[in-house]
Amino acid sequence: MEAGGLCCPRQRQVLFLVLFGGIYLAGSGFGQYSVTEETERGSFVVNLAKDLGLGDQELVTRGARVVFDDNEHHLLLDSHTGDLLTNEQLDREKLCGSTEPCMLYFQILMNNPFQIYRAELRVRDINDHSPVFQDKEIVLKILENTAEGTSFQLERAQDSDGGLNGIQNYTINPNSFFYVKISDSDEGMIYPELVLDKALDREKQQELSLTLTALDGGSPPRSGTATIRIVILDINDNAPEFSQAIYHTQAPENSQVGSIIAKVSAEDVDSGVYADISYSFFDASEDIRTTFQINPYSGEIVLRVLLDFEIVKSYKIKIQAVDGGGLSARCMVLVEVLDTNDNPPELIMSSLSNHVAENSPESILAVFKIKDRDSGENGKMLCYIQDNLPFLLRPSVENFYMLMTEGALDRESKAEYNVTITVTDLGSPRLKTEHNVTVMVSDVNDNAPAFTQTSYTLFVRENNSPALHIGSVSATDRDAGANAQVTYSLLPPQDPQLPLASLVSINADNGQLFALRALDYEALRVLEFGVGAVARGSPALSSQALVRVLVLDANDNSPFVLVTLHVLLVDGFSQPYLPLPEAAADAAQADPLTVYLVIALASVSSLFLFSVLAFVAVRLCRRNRAAWVGGCSVPEGHFPGHLVDVSGTGTLSQSYQYEVCLTGGSGTSEFKFLKPIVPNIQAQGPGSNSEENPTFRNSFGFTFQ
Ligand code: CA
Ligand code: CA
Ligand code: CA
Ligand code: CA
Ligand code: CA
Ligand code: CA
Ligand code: CA
Repeated sequence: MEAGGLCCPRQRQVLFLVLFGGIYLAGSGFGQYSVTEETERGSFVVNLAKDLGLGDQELVTRGARVVFDDNEHHLLLDSHTGDLLTNEQLDREKLCGSTEPCMLYFQILMNNPFQIYRAELRVRDINDHSPVFQDKEIVLKILENTAEGTSFQLERAQDSDGGLNGIQNYTINPNSFFYVKISDSDEGMIYPELVLDKALDREKQQELSLTLTALDGGSPPRSGTATIRIVILDINDNAPEFSQAIYHTQAPENSQVGSIIAKVSAEDVDSGVYADISYSFFDASEDIRTTFQINPYSGEIVLRVLLDFEIVKSYKIKIQAVDGGGLSARCMVLVEVLDTNDNPPELIMSSLSNHVAENSPESILAVFKIKDRDSGENGKMLCYIQDNLPFLLRPSVENFYMLMTEGALDRESKAEYNVTITVTDLGSPRLKTEHNVTVMVSDVNDNAPAFTQTSYTLFVRENNSPALHIGSVSATDRDAGANAQVTYSLLPPQDPQLPLASLVSINADNGQLFALRALDYEALRVLEFGVGAVARGSPALSSQALVRVLVLDANDNSPFVLVTLHVLLVDGFSQPYLPLPEAAADAAQADPLTVYLVIALASVSSLFLFSVLAFVAVRLCRRNRAAWVGGCSVPEGHFPGHLVDVSGTGTLSQSYQYEVCLTGGSGTSEFKFLKPIVPNIQAQGPGSNSEENPTFRNSFGFTFQ
């Protein structure tokens, strides 16, 4: 009742006064007193006796007493002195709250006669309370794009004092964004409003902290403060921004798929989703989309396929960055593809001839172009062939080259060449291309046929059968084909009288010589003529050789008695050899035409019935007339015969002919005889199979029969 009696008891007292006071208050006075709150107990309020005009003891005698409406004993009456004193330290704020003025109503009751005096006690306020904000920190969230002039009502501070001691003003610390406006409420209170004076920018300042001060009207005034934390809320008022408008990057064409070519980076000064950036291609061609890929989060541009410098040397990639609010920015990535040496040189043959005629001066065999799709050193080329060939490469315009002969070629020396054209680039590593050209040297008729010998000596025997093959000549031709096809012919004889064509013929194809008719040694011992060989080419080249046919004698003439006859008797056949008697030798030397008849008499036995007469005709060749053939003298002129006489019985059973030749200088000591052939007796007789006299030629060049 006491603690809470600020309201309800007073109402009841008022009711009481209405019921009773109306009766007793008529004619009564009304005292108005005041006391300042918080004065000490016993403080003097008023001398009630004096104020009521009562005698000194009247208050005592009449039993005066003070009754407050709230039944509280706020005042104490000293009946003896008549002073009305405070009975407690009065707290206006407790007694009246915000009601001002603070009036406490009470009655002064007296008996004898009963009287009621009505009075009121005003508790005067002192400024004993400071303004207090309920929250020491006020958080205010404001969008950064809030318009200037916008006001935000703030919570009031509380000050229990009344009147001027209550809150009279609000202030805020100086700042460039806000000021405080004081507004009046309907209840007559003031409250602060925060007014935006200047546009906010979250990206410049995300928070503001202001101090709001509430001031009362006391003297001195009291104040209370609160912190206003202004959180500036983001709006998407910033687009992403790339760190560079243009990014330059280089990528070797052999970069691996998946490698990072470039990385773009954009920033957004907003916050949250408004700063969440996603990267993507912008306005990208199909080629760029198939070649590159961009990581939407990191901005890394990754290679999807292999680059090829030879196809595309650079790329322009437009990149877009979009924030979560849809604002975007763009940049450009310039990718320069770097060449690597991934192409070997190429050789494009324009014209090619595998054949070149010999003897011709510089001839063009091939015309070709070289190229290398790479660039720089990787595309520079060297073109060469082997060193040791009679060819050269002659460069022409625009990487054209001619493969040429260095000079005349000789097919007969080398008929085929393998030329390797090598083209290498200067890249690292070097790449090369080789092209093989086989060059065939075609023949020109530049070689005459050549006879195997400058002269041929042929033998054979007289009385030959017609068309007898008597020998061959042969010529070779170093040319090829038709140029080497040799045709033989007889050359016209020097002696126009010689009927050569009727004597011999030659096979035009193989050079075989034939005697067309029987030759007669006694008529023609030596036949000399020229043969020619010509190849078919143009111009026709020919050569000649001399053919000498020596006709060999045959015993086709009957004997006759000699170009003197000496007969020598030799002592039988006791010696297997018949040395030429010295006298005969001398004689023969003296007269070479002397013919000796040498008779060898065998020592006759009873059974050895025949004697042998050997007729030896010795013809001494005159050295100064000898025609040496194979080192042996050949009789010139006609020799009438070689005969043969018989023993005393006149029976000629066998004949021998020795032909003795001089082997060197003069002198009989150089004569030699060879062992005659002595036929077996049993083998003699007509029709016997006697060995035909063979012709021998020994190592000394003797010819004997
Ligand atoms: Ca107060
Ligand atoms: Ca106050
Ligand atoms: Ca923003
Ligand atoms: Ca943004
Ligand atoms: Ca290359
Ligand atoms: Ca390349
Ligand atoms: Ca030739």
